[in-house]
Amino acid sequence: IGSAPFNASELSFLERSDRRNDAHGIELSLVVPFYNEEDAVPLFFDRIVPVMNALGLRYEIVCVNDGSRDKTFSMLAAASLRHRGIVRVIDLSRNFGKEAALTAAIDHAVGRAVIPIDADLQDPPEVIPDLVARWREGNDVVLAIRADRSSDSWMKRKTAGWFYRFINKISDVDIPANAGDFRLMDRKVIDAMQRLPERARFMKGMFAWVGFKTATVGYTREKRSAGTTKFRYWRLWNFALEGIVSFSSLPLRVWSYLGFAIAIAAAVYTLVIVAKTLIFGVDVPGYASIIVLLLVSSALNMIGLGIIGEYVARVFVEVKNRPIYVVRERIGLDDQALRLAA
Ligand code: UDP
Ligand code: MG
Repeated sequence: IGSAPFNASELSFLERSDRRNDAHGIELSLVVPFYNEEDAVPLFFDRIVPVMNALGLRYEIVCVNDGSRDKTFSMLAAASLRHRGIVRVIDLSRNFGKEAALTAAIDHAVGRAVIPIDADLQDPPEVIPDLVARWREGNDVVLAIRADRSSDSWMKRKTAGWFYRFINKISDVDIPANAGDFRLMDRKVIDAMQRLPERARFMKGMFAWVGFKTATVGYTREKRSAGTTKFRYWRLWNFALEGIVSFSSLPLRVWSYLGFAIAIAAAVYTLVIVAKTLIFGVDVPGYASIIVLLLVSSALNMIGLGIIGEYVARVFVEVKNRPIYVVRERIGLDDQALRLAA
């Protein structure tokens, strides 16, 4: 490849494993998305670095700045100087969303195992030794399950509960409830993940789709260390919709059955009306029933069209085949980047 900045997701498999050979035996990669987290950055490193050092294995922290508009990037750059060789920073060209940021981080991670973790310390770093212990026992995926979500609002817990119930009813893969992106994944799992080319990155679903031997560890979800949540309800709703449309075609298929049911009812009703007209003559009044039928059937039509639209819109995005993210700059990965560019 040329010397132009490259998009890691476009690296060939060989190039990627090349970089892994240059990984100097890094065992664990933490991958962290940051979006407007300037207050959380120092707290994050202060708490995570001692935990990681105590583990006594080689590790890296791959930080992705997802187009923050505050000082997050310069603070990450400073952290990469302070923790040289450990903290690597990837600066995206704009805000691509958490899922894309995670994808970028995972693409750049070289460890034998990868742990996505939130920057706001809601996923407590103290759980990491447990994850590693279960990994050492031979598990490929170790899920961190939120045993206690009392730090989330009542509304968020409720809606999350409904979402998991619904998506698991209709999707083909089992998406574990109360497991976020916080988990450990072996390199095998990451390699499998990277063969999923979709633009719509519903990571929880993709992690679940690849499968592998899975263990779980419980933890208590903490309060945000600083700053505010980036997921307001409208964004969460769209995220849920993304998950449902990406992992199930049931909403599309349901319309054929509904159509059949309505067609049968319509046929019966037609016979009734014809018979009534033949026997009792023309019966003109019927304004109410006509209006009701008209409104109901056109509403059903529109809902059906809307659902087809949700899928078509996603097909459109996939077909365009644009990169999932664009990198503006990288810090702390230079040795590897130079080797690759040579
Ligand atoms: N995040 C991101 N890009 C976004 C939104 C969020 O990288 O567009 C990151 C954010 O910085 C944090 C993580 O995703 O590290 C989880 O976000 P947040 O804590 O706001 O979500 P919540 O925990 O409230 O669901
Ligand atoms: Mg959070």
